[in-house]
Amino acid sequence: MKKTVTRFAPSPTGYIHIGNVRSAIYPYLVAKKDGGTFILRIEDTDQARYVEGATELIEDTLKWLGLDWDEGPIVGGENGPYFQTERKEHYLEWAKKLIKSGRAYVDDTPSEKIDEYRKADERAKVPYLYRNHRPENAEKSPEKNLALLGAGHPIRFKTIPKNYDWTDEVMGEMHTGPEVCDDIVLIKKDGLPTYNFAHIVDDAEMGVTHIMRGVEYLSSMPNYLALYEALELPRPLFVSLPHILAPQGNKKLGKRDGAKSVTEYRDDGILPEAMLNYLACLGWNDGTEKEIYTKEELIDAFSIDRIQNSGARFDEVKIFWYNGQWIRRIADKQGIDTLFTRTEGFWPESAASEPEEYKKKVLSIIYDRLKTLSDLRTMTEYFFIDPEVNLELITGNKFLKKLSESELVDLMTMTIERLNDIKDWSEENLQNELNALLEKSGKKPAEYFSLVRIAVSFAPFSPALHQTLTVLGREKVLARLNKVRTALVNN
Ligand code: GLU
Repeated sequence: MKKTVTRFAPSPTGYIHIGNVRSAIYPYLVAKKDGGTFILRIEDTDQARYVEGATELIEDTLKWLGLDWDEGPIVGGENGPYFQTERKEHYLEWAKKLIKSGRAYVDDTPSEKIDEYRKADERAKVPYLYRNHRPENAEKSPEKNLALLGAGHPIRFKTIPKNYDWTDEVMGEMHTGPEVCDDIVLIKKDGLPTYNFAHIVDDAEMGVTHIMRGVEYLSSMPNYLALYEALELPRPLFVSLPHILAPQGNKKLGKRDGAKSVTEYRDDGILPEAMLNYLACLGWNDGTEKEIYTKEELIDAFSIDRIQNSGARFDEVKIFWYNGQWIRRIADKQGIDTLFTRTEGFWPESAASEPEEYKKKVLSIIYDRLKTLSDLRTMTEYFFIDPEVNLELITGNKFLKKLSESELVDLMTMTIERLNDIKDWSEENLQNELNALLEKSGKKPAEYFSLVRIAVSFAPFSPALHQTLTVLGREKVLARLNKVRTALVNN
């Protein structure tokens, strides 16, 4: 059996957004599952759409997701080069082969003339097919056509219209008629190949066994099949990946729907494990209810026949859900120290000079509430700097507004006195002490605990109170409570 070879073949036309990157994940999984080769090929023949730095962005994205390519830029390989602009002679060789067998011609039709053909067909309400407007060269000998090479004219395929049947591994049995076969451009006048021609040459030379790409290429399949035939190449397996749909409507997710780049999610504190997991499961499942997969589990479980053939809807909320799951999973399975190594760059500025051990403690009580790592920036500030006292947050609090100022002062005094005295500042003991204080206060838990929580944090949210106090430490807690008490007295 032939070794499985798959590829991801992006065009460097800008950032690589979330809707595109799944076309890298599936071929990667297929190659790894079969012990095969995953190739990265940069399809940079469209000079007008080329964006500086886009290739590096693609490489960064794949590396971040853990989709290491076996052949391609940086790593090289026996089938290189892996940039299409560096493979011009390859395409010209194959195009000459077609000219020699009478299946391609040099097209010297001026572009104004081509415009006229199109308009005339429009007026006549007939489908515009270039094969109905073939120039004389199409009927001339291969020698005459070869002699015209180098004069800056495009090379076109000379099609033989007919029916095509093929199997798409996701879409099923396909059938088309002769009306879709045309004389497509193989090599443009700038000497660079079209996508239509280049990918066929490259896939053949690189030994690609599975063409996995977006379903938008399905309509061009008859012309590709015609090229495989004319070039006497065996057909690889065709695997059309259905669209990722925008959150609303029935269209493909695009930049206009706010589809962010994968690296933006990285910078927002999404873990690569979560992103890979989410995207792999967007349009594929293994038939069970399982939702959380490591990369290795995905490789194990993945199969092409369970890729769904309809579009899958993009849902950002689900990314955050996966991320929360993954944050907890890393902490629970690999420990807080490991999770901590992943949080660099996500802490508030005020934490910069804090000892690592302290930050790890903060992380250990807050990680199970994080949706993204950047939540650390907004949710942990009061562990590092004393919050400003804002009495309105106390007097206006829905649980506390019923209490008079003197009641509030008394509660603070009672709390300060007790916390000042206790010997054992452990999580467990603080839990007991807080319960005893609650009982003594005669208030409801929501009232008493809210007061203490707000007084030490002035934040809309904190982890469990006894844990927050433990990590903050006696000194900070008492200083903050005293400050609030004074403010209440002076109010
Ligand atoms: N260069 C094409 C694109 O970026 C790739 C299609 C393919 O995978 O063959 O859409």
